[in-house]
Amino acid sequence: ARFKVTPDTPAADAEALAFDALGRIPRDKLFIGGRWAPPADGATLPLIDPRSGRAYGAAAAAGAADVDAAVAAARAAFDEGPWPRMAAKERGRVLYRLADLVESNADEIAALETLDVGMAISAARGLITPAVADTLRYYAGWADKVHGETLPVDGPFWAFTLKEPIGVVGAITPWNFPLLMAAVKLAPALAVGCTAVLKPAEQAPLTSLLFAQLASDAGLPPGVLNVVPGPGETAGAALAAHLGVDKITFTGSTEVGRLVGRAAASNIKPCSLELGGKSPLIVAPGADLGVAAAAAADAAFFHQGQCCTAASRVFVHASVYDEFAARAVEAARARAVGDPFSHATQQGPQVDAAQFGKVSRYLRLGREEGAKLAAGGERVGTEGYFLQPTVFTGVEDSMAVARDEIFGPVQCLLRYNTLEEALSRANATPYGLAAAVFSNDLDTVNAAARALRVGTVWVNAYNVVSASMPFGGFKESGIGRDKGREALDNYTQVKAVAQPLRDAAW
Ligand code: NAD
Repeated sequence: ARFKVTPDTPAADAEALAFDALGRIPRDKLFIGGRWAPPADGATLPLIDPRSGRAYGAAAAAGAADVDAAVAAARAAFDEGPWPRMAAKERGRVLYRLADLVESNADEIAALETLDVGMAISAARGLITPAVADTLRYYAGWADKVHGETLPVDGPFWAFTLKEPIGVVGAITPWNFPLLMAAVKLAPALAVGCTAVLKPAEQAPLTSLLFAQLASDAGLPPGVLNVVPGPGETAGAALAAHLGVDKITFTGSTEVGRLVGRAAASNIKPCSLELGGKSPLIVAPGADLGVAAAAAADAAFFHQGQCCTAASRVFVHASVYDEFAARAVEAARARAVGDPFSHATQQGPQVDAAQFGKVSRYLRLGREEGAKLAAGGERVGTEGYFLQPTVFTGVEDSMAVARDEIFGPVQCLLRYNTLEEALSRANATPYGLAAAVFSNDLDTVNAAARALRVGTVWVNAYNVVSASMPFGGFKESGIGRDKGREALDNYTQVKAVAQPLRDAAW
């Protein structure tokens, strides 16, 4: 049976589509060297439905030996294969075809993300899967537009630079937006001629496996992309430390990013890190409070708050604090929590028992530390990992809920008096991923845009993202940028070449 996912699709049909797609993924295998192969030791990862907490199957789990095999395949495809040496526009053509295949399989991909991580189907189908296709097309277009320069040099010489693909890329990705996080790394890497080993998060292997098949169908030569889901401590660590890898790109927590960065540094491998956040959203006096409260609710609760950019600290000017808090509470209470396969659902379950437990601890901790629970704070239902959208008011900077990345649907409202104070408190965190300011005053907006030490600033908006916009963190939110033209630099080496010029006058 084939169902299309539209706003009218009943939840049961969308769910049936997910299980139908699941049945067609060779999930007991890994994708290495253009072939599906079982893991060397036969290990598996459980597939757990976050709506119930029950396992519905298992997927292959890569170990260190499988990572070795995947790196060897990527190495051979880089050192001997056609991919880095073919006409750049031909690589672009493969990526355009892959984007088309992602689009024609968008219903299945979206339904699988919903099954795997509990992402609301409206977000999975309406926003996230189209963003995967957009990312592939954006970098497909760059494939034949990456080039060096000619340089003025002293003496009878001329010099130029070559931008060469860096080699074998090891990509380690998180579970929150499984395929999109993979695409933002793989698309630029493949466009410039690199080969890659992708290690998706152990909670969310499904769409990365499907992507491997689609990439092969699009004409990606064997070994150019290898996909090895497996546990972080074994498969991830093996990839991060592998001497056959030329570049590591990681998205995940700051804690694990430190380990990955250390492993890469010990082998002198460049490493880009997209890490956690504790992003501030500033509501200035005179801002449109209706717009600000609606945007702030989305910014805090979108995808169950499991966004690296989640606006978990909302600084509200004292003159509008009470009115904003009332609107924030109303917005939180109005959010539809439930079966993520239903198009009406805005918020599904947290991804797994560990995340559910972690967020629940912060809900308790916030109350214990003296924050006022203004909305939510409880579990929804009796099974699975559903939580209410939660608003804490009267939050102080020193509280754990204001300091730690919770990665759940928890919005903290903090009161401020002057813009200078708000900006300095907004910056008083080890993180620096994103921030927003809501104001109709140009001086306020300009001051905030410059003072905030973060990789992205949104003005009267939130989570406006695009393949063209460089994305990444200041401070402990990371090193380097994914997306945009900037990301191409992650995957290229610059080589300078000089040679004699016979007629020096010219
Ligand atoms: P995580 O750090 O637990 O895991 C990320 C990846 O690292 C997974 O594939 C995991 O298997 C692997 N891993 C775990 N231990 C490892 C080790 N010792 N060596 C090598 N790899 C290892 O993160 P998560 O829970 O999957 O994702 C949530 C985190 O990701 C949050 O902190 C969030 O802010 C961050 N995130 C950041 C961005 C960004 O762009 N900045 C985007 C999405 C998520």
